[in-house]
Amino acid sequence: MIYDIAIIGSGPAGYSAAIYAARAGKKTVMIAGMQFGGQIARTMHLENYPGFAQKIDGIFLTEEMRKQAESFGAEMKMGSVVSADILKKIKILNTDGGEKIEAHSVIIATGTTPRPLGMPNEAALIGKGISYCATCDGFFFKGRDVAVVGGGNSALIESLHLSTIARTVYLVHRRNEFRAEEINVARARETENIKFITPAEIDEFITDEKGALKSLRLSVDKHEQILDVSAAFISIGTMPSTAFLGDVIELDNSGYIITEPNLTKTTVDGVFAAGDVKAPRFRQAVIAAASGAQAAMEAVDYLYTIE
Ligand code: NAP
Repeated sequence: MIYDIAIIGSGPAGYSAAIYAARAGKKTVMIAGMQFGGQIARTMHLENYPGFAQKIDGIFLTEEMRKQAESFGAEMKMGSVVSADILKKIKILNTDGGEKIEAHSVIIATGTTPRPLGMPNEAALIGKGISYCATCDGFFFKGRDVAVVGGGNSALIESLHLSTIARTVYLVHRRNEFRAEEINVARARETENIKFITPAEIDEFITDEKGALKSLRLSVDKHEQILDVSAAFISIGTMPSTAFLGDVIELDNSGYIITEPNLTKTTVDGVFAAGDVKAPRFRQAVIAAASGAQAAMEAVDYLYTIE
């Protein structure tokens, strides 16, 4: 079967695109990724998505979006797209499960993945004290001392979340100023068991005899300090998930997809990009959702031109 619109990614951009595409009567499929919901599904407290006066979490929001998309007939598939042949009229997406999905148009809503700090033993310590998701892994460090690295909204929100689980949360940031919104910084400063360590660079992840993280060797204001922690949550921003595209589509220097001004149309005919994967600056769920809706509307218009 050849779908009208294939959507890659299941964050707010992907779901919103699926709702609009399926509701427009187009045969729509979503390739959701390794798990449904994208990055926002890791968020415990979502308080700025319009329409919800009470606090909701990311899983609730994206599950509602999924049900809404399915109610209009959008088909959902788990899995990741590993390569894509998108230059021809019929686009082909190859998944890690060996499936070949054909569609007349494609919406890329793959978002971003966490940026590693770049320490030599960082990858080996994943699952042994290094994590990129406090919501997912925080519970394993109940009552222990942990660090969060970064000074953006994510780092501050992760610190606040961890402060309810861990004994002490050390917020390690390379500058004294924070990129995060003042409301998040103020909440963290008011939280007794969050300790700010700035300006601090991480020089080494020190491990114990079992190969698990034991401490961080830091330069705090240029003075060496050893900080004993059971875990370090790295929260220093994200990178766009565009590697599977190869070099057929135009990306900026950081790998974000370039689209026409005010549109989601990419440099490849019939291929659209929505959400964080094209938005290095305003990475917000509500903006991603709007962008997904726009991508679906542009894809529907495109389908008329090829009929
Ligand atoms: P971000 O805003 O880009 O912040 C990244 C942080 O990591 C910065 O403090 C940066 O330090 C630091 N950093 C970057 N590279 C580093 C390195 N090599 N070593 C040490 N520190 C490093 O990323 P984010 O917090 O993941 O947020 C991403 C986007 O999502 C932002 O637009 C954010 O506003 C948004 N967001 C919004 C909410 C919300 O509730 N509204 C929640 C989460 C995220 P410098 O400041 O020194 O560069």
